[in-house]
Amino acid sequence: MSKLSVLIGGFVRQHSRAYALSGAMLAGVAILTIWVPRKVGAMIDGLAAHTLGGNALLREIGALLLIGAGIYFLRVAWRQILYGAAYQLGVSLRTRLYNRLTVQGAAFYQRQRTGDLMALATNDIDAIEMAAGEAMLAGFDGALTLVMVLGVMLLGVDWRLACIALLPFPLMGWAFWYISGHIHTASTDSLKRFSALNDHVQETLSGVRTLRALGLEQRSARQFGELAQKASDASLRAQVWEAAYEPAVGLTLTAAGGLTLGLGGYLVWQHQLTIGALTSFTMYLGQLIWPMFAAGWVLSLIERGRAAWQRLHPMLDAPLAIADHGTLTAVAPGPLSLHNVTYAYPEQGAPALCGITLELKPGQTLGLVGPTGCGKSTLLRVLLRQLTPQSGSVRWSGHALDEYKLHALRAAISWVPQESFLFSATIADNIALARPGATRAQVEHAATLAAIHDDILQFPQGYETEVGEKGITLSGGQRQRVAIARALLADNDLLLLDDALSAVDTGTETRILQHLEQLRQARHGRSAVIASHRLSAVVNADLIVVLRDGRVSETGSHEQLLEQDGWYASQWRYQQLEASLNAL
Ligand code: ADP
Ligand code: MG
Repeated sequence: MSKLSVLIGGFVRQHSRAYALSGAMLAGVAILTIWVPRKVGAMIDGLAAHTLGGNALLREIGALLLIGAGIYFLRVAWRQILYGAAYQLGVSLRTRLYNRLTVQGAAFYQRQRTGDLMALATNDIDAIEMAAGEAMLAGFDGALTLVMVLGVMLLGVDWRLACIALLPFPLMGWAFWYISGHIHTASTDSLKRFSALNDHVQETLSGVRTLRALGLEQRSARQFGELAQKASDASLRAQVWEAAYEPAVGLTLTAAGGLTLGLGGYLVWQHQLTIGALTSFTMYLGQLIWPMFAAGWVLSLIERGRAAWQRLHPMLDAPLAIADHGTLTAVAPGPLSLHNVTYAYPEQGAPALCGITLELKPGQTLGLVGPTGCGKSTLLRVLLRQLTPQSGSVRWSGHALDEYKLHALRAAISWVPQESFLFSATIADNIALARPGATRAQVEHAATLAAIHDDILQFPQGYETEVGEKGITLSGGQRQRVAIARALLADNDLLLLDDALSAVDTGTETRILQHLEQLRQARHGRSAVIASHRLSAVVNADLIVVLRDGRVSETGSHEQLLEQDGWYASQWRYQQLEASLNAL
């Protein structure tokens, strides 16, 4: 579905009742509107011939007023019905976009900018909504009025006069076509500039502390000023082109009016036309203003809508980076094995993981160590199926990862990412995120295991303290421990800690690790992968894998690795020394 007309067509079919009802009301309005000039023409002729007077005149005027009131109410009613429907299109498009964004993978977000996506969800969808509501109805209204007015002019008044009056109109058609092309270009540009502005605001606000620390506020404000100016210039260009419709309509109608008066005056002179008929003809000509304006307006709304749709639909149709074609709905306990796994990030030369082979038996803990950038986080993300290796296989309980439903796979894994994220909610809610039904006792138990319970009690409202954007700010180590509590509360078979203790002091780290060990022994089958650049986190792991530049360079238990006297052993000595120096 790549055309706006297809989208709107489908939507109109879905809401055919609302569209038909407002269409019918509009037709009512059009008929009543058409009636007025005929009535006025007849009244003028009646007055001129002295056949209309007294009560009859009052009745006629009363009828005119009634028609006016009828037109008013019909107009209000059709707008309500129609916009009620058109706003539904906005709701459904926003929901579609939102749902799509929640399932998109890392590769998608690496290419998209947040501010852009937010602009799409607001500005662009507004434009499409206008095209489905306002534009459809103004188009229908305008076309109906046009046909009826033309019909009455041709058949009801004088066809010669009508033909002459219509002579300038093709020229206006050409002008409209020319202008709408420019509006399309200008609208696309204006939507893009608004996106850029949005991006800037979003990025500035999320990095406001860094900006301030670097003293870049003024530069950032200047950049904002430039972007805002460009966005406003682009909107102005679109508006200028929209305004160009008006003179085109005006010129055309003036020319038509001149021609009408010329020929009409001649016909009246020749007694082939009454003055009343000429009056109602010029009134009809005046009624053509609305259809002409409607045409211009509809064209610009549609061009704006098309420009917005061209930006939006690639997001809605962007293929999911991670296909979810698996059928298995649960992961049975079993070994997790990687065979010759190689992964390279797109547009990156050297692979981040190269020929990784290892096995983790249920109930075991795997330590993953190595210098920053060696591929620890990447490996965990492969296990989560956030990344799909280019070659090699990852199997869990005998099945390749993609044989599982994505949901089932993720439900079997608790992941504490390197950068933990807290939502704007209470601490209790943040911990209970993975298990919304958890009791307070369970939440507190998880917090105790993660060695954050005592810290939480120190906060102003304890577990009810708001954190995140509107609440208090936690230290890095506190954030990490809240994230660990969240993962422990979920209590899944496989726990992945991605340098999740890096900001926690070693004493607390040891306590948390001991708790993890107790948990593991309490229920058979719980496994864990602990990635860390600090070796103290993996000392007790059943198997330790050392990664260097994406390759496995050493494997074994802590003692075996010390004996091998490689990178691990020297790093161990170094970190021990560092720790004892710190303790001094
Ligand atoms: P670690 O967690 O061990 O510090 P990572 O797995 O984060 O290492 O990174 C491994 C390598 O992949 C590094 O060279 C890093 O620059 C690169 N890398 C990590 N994330 C991305 C990404 N999103 N896009 C491109 N390259 C990446
Ligand atoms: Mg990492």
